[in-house]
Amino acid sequence: MKQAQIKPPFNRVNLAIFVGLPIAALILVPLWGIYQGYDTFQWLWALAFLYLNGMSITGGYHRLWAHRAYNAHPALKWFFAFWGAGALQNSILIWASDHRRHHRHVDDNVKDPYSAGRGLWFSHMGWMLRQYRSNTPDLSNAKDLQRDPVVMWQHEHYVVLTTFMNLGLPVLLGIWHGDIIGTVLLVGLLRLVVNHHVTFFINSLAHFWGKRPYTETNSARDNGFLAFLTYGEGYHNYHHIFQTDYRNGIRWWQWDPTKWMIALCGRVGLASNLNRVSNFKIQRAILDTAFSRARSEMAEAEGNESLKDMLDREYQLFTDFINQWTALRAESYERTREQLSGALEEKKHHLQSKWENAALHTQFKTLEYSLKMQRKRLGLLMEQFNCHQAQMA
Ligand SMILES: [Zn+2]
Ligand SMILES: [Zn+2]
Repeated sequence: MKQAQIKPPFNRVNLAIFVGLPIAALILVPLWGIYQGYDTFQWLWALAFLYLNGMSITGGYHRLWAHRAYNAHPALKWFFAFWGAGALQNSILIWASDHRRHHRHVDDNVKDPYSAGRGLWFSHMGWMLRQYRSNTPDLSNAKDLQRDPVVMWQHEHYVVLTTFMNLGLPVLLGIWHGDIIGTVLLVGLLRLVVNHHVTFFINSLAHFWGKRPYTETNSARDNGFLAFLTYGEGYHNYHHIFQTDYRNGIRWWQWDPTKWMIALCGRVGLASNLNRVSNFKIQRAILDTAFSRARSEMAEAEGNESLKDMLDREYQLFTDFINQWTALRAESYERTREQLSGALEEKKHHLQSKWENAALHTQFKTLEYSLKMQRKRLGLLMEQFNCHQAQMA
């Protein structure tokens, strides 16, 4: 019985990195600031390094390699491999493999390496400090990455690479600037510690704090404030249901610099095949979640029979929309296949097919609109229900 409670031994290297470095930063950075001071040049470089490291993790390690949300030109891959190594969060191969396990077994305390079910501290950084069984590398989910020469080169040269990016580059920058110690402390040390913790927020806070509009089947949450700190990764509820979308914040106004960077790379030919989930699927997920929430709320309340009937009718309508959409998808797929096989080569056929495609497109748009309207009706229905409940109380 006692044996089972013994925690696994510490991981000394990680302990030095994740506990030693923050303590060193807390003491040395203010001390140097008081006695020598920092200048704008150093602060700006620290900020630049922070974004270069952070967005190589989110745009490269995460959305490109772990989720294959788009394809990248080799030049962009090399860029992410170098600057991502500078974030000191392990090699692409290990990171992406761990992350795929996190998605596949989310909230499973045995298989998810940073399961939120084991608490805020564990999911933030506790999971790295000890030799937990859930940390045992299992690369069976990363065969594609093992075939990527950039990934494998970075994995093999990781220690040299991360040392150069974290120490070598800041030293060179310091020599150029004329203050080696100050530059290393700010651009090297403080920047590293800050980037560690904001990235770790995605595994910890983004599974505890925020809303769950797309799915309630896991603990991931959408949080605009966290998105601001995490280079756009705070829309984590959306990300957990649609992980292959290159965007995390899908609305144009949602703060997601990683999505803007990928879109820009797409414009200049550095990225291609940017994967976007269709609006219909997104609306369907929101409605599905809203319906199950409404149903459980109404089930607990006494009376309200007419509202319950309305909810059932709306749900039936929702199912009909989904079925229509599935049928349309099948039709659209069939049409594309026919066109590709060259069956419609003649001009007449071509025009006919154009017309049919346009008609299909209209039907898709109409269905999308129907779901949008249904969301509004469901909102009104729930308002009525809440009013009724308030009167009863
Ligand atoms: Zn997550
Ligand atoms: Zn992910």
